[in-house]
Amino acid sequence: MSATATVRVMSAEEIVSSAAGETPFLHWPERGTLFAERQMRLRQLAAGGHAMADFLRFMADVAQAQHAALQRMGPVPLPSDEALQRAARDGVPPLPAVDWPRDAAWRTELRRMVDEWRRSAPAGVRAALDAIDRCTDDELESQADCLLTGVMQGLNLATAPLIAAALQVYWTHLVLSVQAANGASAGDHARGALNPPFGRCDDASLCPCCGSRPTASLTRNIGGSTGQRYLHCSLCSTQWYLQRIRCPHCLHTGRIAYQTLESAQAVSDDDDANARVAQAAIQAETCDDCGHYLKIMHGDRDPFADPVADDLATLTLDLLVAETGKQRHGVNLMLLFGDPEPPPDPQGA
Ligand SMILES: [Zn+2]
Ligand SMILES: [Zn+2]
Repeated sequence: MSATATVRVMSAEEIVSSAAGETPFLHWPERGTLFAERQMRLRQLAAGGHAMADFLRFMADVAQAQHAALQRMGPVPLPSDEALQRAARDGVPPLPAVDWPRDAAWRTELRRMVDEWRRSAPAGVRAALDAIDRCTDDELESQADCLLTGVMQGLNLATAPLIAAALQVYWTHLVLSVQAANGASAGDHARGALNPPFGRCDDASLCPCCGSRPTASLTRNIGGSTGQRYLHCSLCSTQWYLQRIRCPHCLHTGRIAYQTLESAQAVSDDDDANARVAQAAIQAETCDDCGHYLKIMHGDRDPFADPVADDLATLTLDLLVAETGKQRHGVNLMLLFGDPEPPPDPQGA
C-alpha cells in the first residue's frame, strides 16, 4: 500500500453532514474502491504470517475479480419510482435479498469470475470451480435462493462463497444504480429523510436497502464526532448507522460488553494489557440480553480495517466468544458458519 493511501478522505455525504453537524444515516459503497481496498487489506493480512494466509490470499483474488466485475456491469432492471416510494412508506427494503427478481447478469459475472479465479485457485478450490461450471442456470439460481434466504439445506458449502461473491457484486451494483438513477442527495440522507431511493427500515438490525444482516460494525470519525458506528451489509455493502449503545441484534441498550483476543490474556493489575484491550482495533460486542455478538472494527484506530477481510482474519476471536456461549449475529458470505443444528450425516443416513 502506498504512503499516499494512508489518509481516507471524507466522502460527499460525510462532508455534507459534517457541515450540517449531523450523522448521515447511510454510507454508500464506492464502486471504484470497495472491493479493491478489500483485496489490498486481505493481502496485507495474509502477508503478516497469518495461519490462514493461503485462504486470505485466495479471498484477495476473489475480491480482485469482484472489483473488475463491478466496474464492467451494465444496466439492470431497477425498482420503479412507485415501488421505491412504497418501500420507504412501508419501512421495508426496496431491493429485498429474499425475493428481488434477480437479473441473469449476476450469473454472467459469476461465470466470468470463475474463469479468472481458475488462474490462481489453489488445488482445493478447483473442484468448486468445476462444480460451478457444471451447474445449470436453474441450479445456480437455487443455490442463490439458499444463500439469500439462509437455508443451509441443499446449499453446497464449497461453492457458496464464490456464488455469494457474484451476488455481492450484483447487489452492490443495484444499490449504486438506484442511487445514481434517483440522484439521491447526500443531504437527504444526512437528515434521515424518508425520500426515495432508500428510507429507514422498521427493523434497524437489517440493511435498509436489501434486508440482509450485517457482517460487522465499522466505526468512523465524522466531522467532530468520533467513533460513529455503522453496520456493514453482508450483501449490498451499504452501511447504516446504529447508535453505539444499542445491541445490533436485539437493539436493547442495557448489557453490552466488549471482548478482544487480548482480553483472554489481560490481567486486571496489568495496566498496559488493559489499555491494549480498550484500544484494540477489533472487538466482539456482546449482549447479555439476547446472547449474541457482532464484531466491531474501529476504522478510527486502523484506517485499513475492512469488515469482511478483518472478520475472516479474526476467526480466533469467534472461537473465544463462542466459549462463553454467545451466538454470532454477523453473516460473512465468504465463510458461512454452519447452522446451530447438527450438520447432515456425511453417510447420508
Ligand atoms: Zn444490504
Ligand atoms: Zn442483544
